[in-house]
Amino acid sequence: MNKVIIFAENFEGVFKKATFEAVSYGSRIVEQMGGGEVIAISLGEVADEELKSLGAYGATRVISLHNEAFNSLDAKIYAKTIADNVKKENAGLIIFTDSNASKAVAPRVAVRLHAGMVFGAYGLPSNLSPFTIPKKVFYGKAFTEVVIQSEVKVISLSQNSFGVVENKKDIVVENIDHTVDTDQIKTKILSVEKSTGKILLTDAEIVVSGGRGMKGPDKWKPLEDLAETLGAGLACTRPVSDEGWRPHTEHVGQTGKIIAPNLYFAFGISGAIQHLAGVSSSKVIVAVNTDKDAPIFSAADYGVVGDAATVLIGLNDALKKFKSEN
Ligand SMILES: Cc1cc2nc3c(=O)[nH]c(=O)nc-3n(C[C@H](O)[C@H](O)[C@H](O)COP(=O)(O)OP(=O)(O)OC[C@H]3O[C@@H](n4cnc5c(N)ncnc54)[C@H](O)[C@@H]3O)c2cc1C
Repeated sequence: MNKVIIFAENFEGVFKKATFEAVSYGSRIVEQMGGGEVIAISLGEVADEELKSLGAYGATRVISLHNEAFNSLDAKIYAKTIADNVKKENAGLIIFTDSNASKAVAPRVAVRLHAGMVFGAYGLPSNLSPFTIPKKVFYGKAFTEVVIQSEVKVISLSQNSFGVVENKKDIVVENIDHTVDTDQIKTKILSVEKSTGKILLTDAEIVVSGGRGMKGPDKWKPLEDLAETLGAGLACTRPVSDEGWRPHTEHVGQTGKIIAPNLYFAFGISGAIQHLAGVSSSKVIVAVNTDKDAPIFSAADYGVVGDAATVLIGLNDALKKFKSEN
C-alpha cells in the first residue's frame, strides 16, 4: 500500500497552519497515487482532539509519540524517531513543512533513509514515475522541476504553496510512550526566549511591514494598530532591526525570516532584492512609498505613491469604521 508520512509539527501542543497544509498536500498526493494511507507523526504532548483535527485534511492515522525529550527540539532525536517510524511503516514519501524545525530535521531524516530530498516544493508532483516535483529557486525568482530517483523520498513544502484543503477522513489516533536512548541526547536546551509578537510571523495570513521610510522607532504605533485590526503579524526590513527600531525577530528577507502570507503590506520599504527574497512568495503585495520608481512597486500587486504615515492614518480609520459597521 502507498504510505505517505507527514511530520505534524506542533507549537505548545497546537498544530500550525503549515501542518494542516502539509497534510492536505500529502492526502492529495495519495489520491494522485490511486489511494493509500496518510499517516501523521506527532512528537511531544498534543491532546487527542488536536491530533484528530488532522483528519479534517485527509490524515487517516496519527502516530503520537510521547517522551520528555520531545519537549524541546533536538534535531538528531527527532530525525532518528521519524526515520525509525518511516522504516517501520515502510512508507515511501515523507513530507515536512519548511519551518525552522523541518530545516534541521528533514535533511537528517533523508540521510538516515538514503532518501533524495527536495526542500521547498511548490506544488504537486507533475509526474509520479519518475517522481518529479516543482520547486522555487533563486529566492522565488524562478521555478525548476526536480526528479527524486531514490525509493524513499523526502519533501518539504513551501508555506502557502498548496493551501489548507478540507478532505474529511476518519482518523485513528495511536498514542505511544516512546523510549529515547538518553545516550543520544548530546545537547540540552536550558531556556527558550520567545519572540514577543502575538502572531507567529511565519504563520501569519497577513503581515504588516515597515522600512526606513517609517522614519523612526516612535512611528510604529500606526503599523501596530493596523496589525491589531487585521490580526496580522509585524515585520520589518533589516536596517530597521539593525538600528534597533524593531526586534530582530521581525526582520524578513535573505538574512531574516522567509514568509509567504496571503497579504503583505510594505510601508516605506525600498524593495531591495535581499528584502524581496523573504517576501516575494506572498500572494498579494501592497506597497506604499513616496518614490514612484522604488523597486518595491515592481514586486507589488497594488501600490500607493504617497507618505506612509498619511496612508496609515486613512487606512486605519477606514478599517476601524468598516469593522464597527460590519
Ligand atoms: C548580504 C545582505 C543581506 C541583506 N539581507 C537583508 C534582509 O534579509 N532583509 C532586508 O530587508 N534587507 C536586507 N539587506 C539590506 C537591503 O539591501 C536593503 O538595504 C534594505 O532592505 C533596505 O531597507 P529599507 O527598504 O527599510 O530602507 P531604504 O532602502 O532606505 O528604503 C526606504 C524607502 O522608504 C521610502 N520612503 C521614504 N520616506 C517615505 C515616506 N514618508 N513614506 C513612504 N515611503 C517613504 C523611500 O523612498 C525608500 O524607498 C541585506 C543586504 C545585504 C548586503
